[in-house]
Amino acid sequence: MTSNNRTVTVIGAGLAGLAAAYDLHRAGWNVTVLEARERVGGRVYSVRSFSNGLVAEGGGEFIEDRHVRMLAFAKQFNLQLGRVGSWQKQDGDWGAFEGKSGRLADEKIWGTNLHEEIERVWDAVSGLGKYVPDSKQPQTSREAERLDAQSALDWINAQDVHPLARNYFIQHIRAEYTTEPECFSLLDLARNSSMYYSTAEHQPNWRVVGGNDLIPRALANALPDIRMNAVVTSIRILPDEVAVTYKQADSHLTVSSAFAILAIPLTTARLIDFNSSLPYAHQRMVNEISYGAVTKVMIQYRKRFWDKTGWNGRLTTDSPIVITWLATSHVESEDGIITAYTGGSPGAKLAALSDEARVQLAVAEIEKFFPGSSDLIEHTATAAWPNEPFTRGSYMALAPGEVTAHWQTLFEPAGRLFFAGEHATAIQGYMEGAVESGQRAAASIISS
Ligand SMILES: Cc1cc2nc3c(=O)[nH]c(=O)nc-3n(C[C@H](O)[C@H](O)[C@H](O)COP(=O)(O)OP(=O)(O)OC[C@H]3O[C@@H](n4cnc5c(N)ncnc54)[C@H](O)[C@@H]3O)c2cc1C
Repeated sequence: MTSNNRTVTVIGAGLAGLAAAYDLHRAGWNVTVLEARERVGGRVYSVRSFSNGLVAEGGGEFIEDRHVRMLAFAKQFNLQLGRVGSWQKQDGDWGAFEGKSGRLADEKIWGTNLHEEIERVWDAVSGLGKYVPDSKQPQTSREAERLDAQSALDWINAQDVHPLARNYFIQHIRAEYTTEPECFSLLDLARNSSMYYSTAEHQPNWRVVGGNDLIPRALANALPDIRMNAVVTSIRILPDEVAVTYKQADSHLTVSSAFAILAIPLTTARLIDFNSSLPYAHQRMVNEISYGAVTKVMIQYRKRFWDKTGWNGRLTTDSPIVITWLATSHVESEDGIITAYTGGSPGAKLAALSDEARVQLAVAEIEKFFPGSSDLIEHTATAAWPNEPFTRGSYMALAPGEVTAHWQTLFEPAGRLFFAGEHATAIQGYMEGAVESGQRAAASIISS
């Protein structure tokens, strides 16, 4: 085979792999997609087991206004979007800390306007953005080494903030980055600050009505060769081709192509035998980069009992569930779903429970805030991503030292093997980033 052959093997049919395969196919390349699961979409997983046709997202959920690629796909595939509402940084948010609970802005509960105290923390977080002038290249920032040697916990501990606002920040890191604050690089927090902790927080979010996975499904429908239940076990990068071996049922099959795109989480990539053909920096990156842990519990109630309370669904708590929101706020219905979203070490603890015990725990926590709510339950579902053999975590969560060690390598091909996925993009941790990384890998191959 020669490099003139317009053949590509894409490993992983999540958004990154599918977006790459879609562009390559439309550009006339012969694309084979290998997917380990029985379904496409990976960490986009819409749960349809609820009553009355309600759908909740077990994985990627919020599509932001600036997520132009995801919004473009929705338009292109004639999918309807439902507006979630802007619940971030609103004073309809509730908190539950140290045995007290209620509206963050209610001074009678907290002895201070906790909402304003938290806003002060966000202002300080926002100030970190100045340290990373180029969010695509944080490792080149002037103080990269110093910041990367510290954690988000080191930073918050050095701030003069209200103790409950500090607790809120810790829960925010667990929810947003799905890791513990001491395991999260301050340089990556600063990088994220330069992108997100600004007016954009108030932008509206969207969900695809009927399920976000309608996007990966539509992409997959346009592709001629997707092999399901195909678990890649070995990759050999050669001077003029890439040989990819996968296990399907009892067979081990090898497909060779001019290029390959590895669009799977690094947690599963590290189980692949690269036959010593991966450069040292890439092998280290694959082996060492940290991931977070996250679980969701989705609880369907017969009535939207929260409507009367003025609560916007967002509760940040030091209880074992970490955070909640309304999963069906974008559709009209008598009944509704609350999602408990648990990241960091609380997420790892919930993942270690049985599905039933995890659901029971979340139900009991919500019952504490809304006594009688558990009598209204119609249906429950849960997703524990660390337990998923083809995910093994949540998404990339760079620990201290890892930005300077690995960021640049994430974007460099290893010969004929390109990397894509939510980890290989500046829009990291998002569906949009996965798509961006896939489209970028495809464009590099098309222009090669
Ligand atoms: C609980 C949760 C909530 C989230 N919330 C949001 C949100 O609100 N908004 C947002 O934008 N993003 C969110 N995300 C992130 C978003 O879902 C991901 O960034 C994105 O879906 C990742 O896409 P990907 O293609 O990189 O990886 P994946 O979706 O993981 O796709 C990788 C694919 O590779 C397959 N695979 C793995 N190993 C192998 C192998 N050895 N051989 C063959 N195939 C393999 C997997 O089965 C999978 O289909 C969330 C993620 C989670 C887990």
